[in-house]
Amino acid sequence: MNKYDVIVIGGGFAGLTCALALAKEGSRVAVLEKEPVAGGAFQSFRRKGQRLETGFHFVGGVREGEVMWPIISYFGLETLPWQPLDEVPLEVNVRGRHFELRSGYDAFVESLAADFPSERQALQQLADLLKELNQHIYETILPGTEGKISPLMAVSAKEYLEEHFADPLLRDVLCGQSITTELGDKLPLYSFLQSLNTFVQGSYRLAGGGEALIQRLVDNLTAAGGELMTHCAVEQFCVSEDGRVRAVRCADGVEYEADMFISTLHPALTVAAIPECTQVRKIYRKRLSNLVNTTGMFTVQLVLKPGTVPYKKRNISIFSADDLWHTPCGKDDKVQNMLISYNVPTGDPRWADNIDLLTPMTWDAVCEWAESRVGRRPEEYRQLKRRKAEECIALACKYLPELQNNIVEYWTSTPLTYRDYTGTQNGSAYGVRKMCDNLLGTVLSPATPFPNLLMAGQNMMLHGMMGTAMTSLRVCNAICGKNLVR
Ligand SMILES: Cc1cc2nc3c(=O)[nH]c(=O)nc-3n(C[C@H](O)[C@H](O)[C@H](O)COP(=O)(O)OP(=O)(O)OC[C@H]3O[C@@H](n4cnc5c(N)ncnc54)[C@H](O)[C@@H]3O)c2cc1C
Repeated sequence: MNKYDVIVIGGGFAGLTCALALAKEGSRVAVLEKEPVAGGAFQSFRRKGQRLETGFHFVGGVREGEVMWPIISYFGLETLPWQPLDEVPLEVNVRGRHFELRSGYDAFVESLAADFPSERQALQQLADLLKELNQHIYETILPGTEGKISPLMAVSAKEYLEEHFADPLLRDVLCGQSITTELGDKLPLYSFLQSLNTFVQGSYRLAGGGEALIQRLVDNLTAAGGELMTHCAVEQFCVSEDGRVRAVRCADGVEYEADMFISTLHPALTVAAIPECTQVRKIYRKRLSNLVNTTGMFTVQLVLKPGTVPYKKRNISIFSADDLWHTPCGKDDKVQNMLISYNVPTGDPRWADNIDLLTPMTWDAVCEWAESRVGRRPEEYRQLKRRKAEECIALACKYLPELQNNIVEYWTSTPLTYRDYTGTQNGSAYGVRKMCDNLLGTVLSPATPFPNLLMAGQNMMLHGMMGTAMTSLRVCNAICGKNLVR
């Protein structure tokens, strides 16, 4: 019988954590995922036997006493092989000048104050703000606080930096961690600080990557009695006369009934699946359908000759643009900003197997091929990918000359690829763009016009492992009426 206590739509990190939390609380839960594998933007994929990553590169603070620990331990992820990055988890290269962001709040201040002595006080204030953020982070997900937002969401990150730091070069260095986040005038300080904290509090990679993380969640879900059903693309919510959602209908026509539904899809996709009904007003539909999304990403996955490129326990940011806050990243724009991320080697720990190059790319760059599908893209699109990949590789080789002649092959993804594999709107990397001057319109409530349909996932509040887990816990705390994570 297709009848459950809770149906979760989408089997990415948000969907799996929602389902696991509720299964642990004794609910009969099923996750419906449209793809053949779960994981969404955290899924790994294989090319010629090599495991490559979609969007799981590093996370902050997973050890006991650190900020993610309550989440890690609650979901049974503490025994995974987390590997700490070194004391310099991030090198930042700004227009040819090299800086290091150190982990540990004091080391962070000291190392940057050595390069920018007159900014010591502002650096100390920033470090204090980061520590304070950690202390209050779980307050917004307690039951009954569904509408609560950190006041730092209403502050512009750019304005904060301009107000507190006199040297524009230091302001750029501090953006090193945000290379793949959208640096724009409206970026909330809260989102900016969360990314920075990922490095300052200590960063980790995971041996086995996204695949290991997702497999562990699926195993724990199954052990708790939950179910994951793949190849289940939800097409429609079925609304009953009492104003509740009765079931969801999948592309194959099968219906799944439940008392409660959680959608982790983009809100525009969620609302598109709700048929015309009196509960959902036109204005609500319009608002969710027209949300502005973050920029997408162009990624190059380099497969390296064994034993040639030393593995580094750090990430490398490269900023070549003069204005980091408004760097164009369309079809004809030169690649100027990039993040180099190493994946944990599967064999000899001294040598890297593969390295990812990530650079922002707009939907406009690829939207002319929006009708095409994976494996059947036209030649012009493939040419664009080759050109961008060559630019990325040339830029990376300037900073890592050891890459030269040691790349066996590479694979690329554009916002079109992300759209088709993870179902994100226009291939946006982090979903709905949060804007500090329009919190009501961009930071969404989990509630919907239906009392038994809630929303979670990166689009709601904050992206990344920490942000999405928080949205899951907020929804599950509200359903269970208690704080699940202590
Ligand atoms: C290039 C890149 C790099 C990143 N790097 C990091 C990083 O290093 N660290 C970090 O913490 N975060 C990183 N992120 C962010 C992180 O990947 C996301 O914030 C997070 O994975 C979002 O999870 P989610 O469950 O909200 O959404 P998703 O992962 O998008 O999950 C949504 C799921 O819903 C499924 N779905 C869609 N439509 C339907 C339907 N109709 N029916 C059923 N299922 C459906 C999709 O297939 C997908 O599995 C990165 C993201 C990108 C794009």
